[in-house]
Amino acid sequence: MSKDMVGRVCDKCKTRPAVVYQKHSGRFLCKECFIEDIIERIRREVEKWRMIEPGDTILLAVSGGKDSFVLLDVMPQIHDPSKLIALSIVEGIEGYNRAEDIEKMKKYAMERGVDFIKTSFKEFIGASLDELVKRAWDRGLNVSPCTFCGTLRRRIMNYYARNLGVDKVATAHNLDDEVQTLLLNILRGDRMRLIQSHPRAPVLSTRIVRKIKPLRKIYEWEATMYAFLKGFKFQETECRYIYLRPTLRAKVRDHLYALEEESPGSLLRILENMDEILWKLIGTHRKLPSLPVCKKCGEPTSYGRELCKVCELLEKIGIY
Ligand code: SF4
Ligand code: ZN
Ligand code: ZN
Repeated sequence: MSKDMVGRVCDKCKTRPAVVYQKHSGRFLCKECFIEDIIERIRREVEKWRMIEPGDTILLAVSGGKDSFVLLDVMPQIHDPSKLIALSIVEGIEGYNRAEDIEKMKKYAMERGVDFIKTSFKEFIGASLDELVKRAWDRGLNVSPCTFCGTLRRRIMNYYARNLGVDKVATAHNLDDEVQTLLLNILRGDRMRLIQSHPRAPVLSTRIVRKIKPLRKIYEWEATMYAFLKGFKFQETECRYIYLRPTLRAKVRDHLYALEEESPGSLLRILENMDEILWKLIGTHRKLPSLPVCKKCGEPTSYGRELCKVCELLEKIGIY
């Protein structure tokens, strides 16, 4: 607890001692009011964009991290737990996502009445991420492990969602992730991805299950604090490829943190304003045709491409 917090009373309930300073709202909050604030903001965001319809079955994409824990903890409080299924995907990275972390997530899911299933890259395509990366590097290819990781995770998630017949896939992306992605898409001039990042963007293929991001207005530090206050035990090891993450994202993240530090609430304002601008654009935009399908695997791919990203990557490293 910081020095400023000592002796402070919660600005919301005016009774309990404050344990958190929420910089963007300028409030000191007690544990209970902070937790309630996070749940209510997630509920409001979900309702605002009608992310969930009554009766929807939802697949929760969970890793062993704190954001996943928040998703797993909050979703059963805002939607029928018997309609939720948690899916854990083990990438196969040495020292990361160990069996005990997966077991912990399973236990959390069970305690909340949520079904739990797990799979792995190995099970899905016959190779772990470590093996894929080694094959790429042995061939002298300059592919980031994160590219393999993200592309395959998305494919596996969508595959499971479709085969389980769920209505939505919920991921644990937080506000920091969302604004970084927004700016990256602007910097790259990728208008299609920019529009597709909106919570009400049209789904461009019947083979794609709609994704929702209930934590998109929750700061990363708030997710960390929520998990900590709820006694969640963090995964202690970091992914060994974390230092190879694309550098532009890291730079954007640093600039955004500096901006937020100087002007608290900046990330929220950026996302809220972009949401409104993109929403208007979606309303006036001509209807886009369905995405073409990959000539190798039949999954959707981007406009103008013959192969999907997964097939392209696997072909490059000689798996297909
Ligand atoms: Fe995957 Fe990259 Fe994250 Fe490691 S750092 S888990 S490779 S996305
Ligand atoms: Zn309070
Ligand atoms: Zn393909």
